[in-house]
Amino acid sequence: MHEMAIIEALLETVVPKAKENGAEKILEINFHIGEMSGIVPSCIHEYFAIASKGTIAEHAKINLKTVPAMIRCNDCGYTGTPDKQNYCCPECQSFNIKLTSGREYYIESLVVE
Ligand SMILES: [Zn+2]
Repeated sequence: MHEMAIIEALLETVVPKAKENGAEKILEINFHIGEMSGIVPSCIHEYFAIASKGTIAEHAKINLKTVPAMIRCNDCGYTGTPDKQNYCCPECQSFNIKLTSGREYYIESLVVE
């Protein structure tokens, strides 16, 4: 139920924010998900429909955007996307890498009414 907790946290963030801005309804939520965040995008819509019932975000459209994983290699200094197959440095094949982005998820923007 990882996704459900994320959706609940998302609603707790966006609903008060939208109300603060005088919105009566949230129409769209632009939600960015890191490739390595472990969030299953197909679950988001289903859980959102359940969690948003009775809130001003009910029936809002969620626009999901995947944020690609980025790494920094501690051996050769490479920065960029990892080797997709082995998840290592594509330059020197080292596994001594650090994930610099792709694990995060955040609300990029909202469309309200
Ligand atoms: Zn490297």
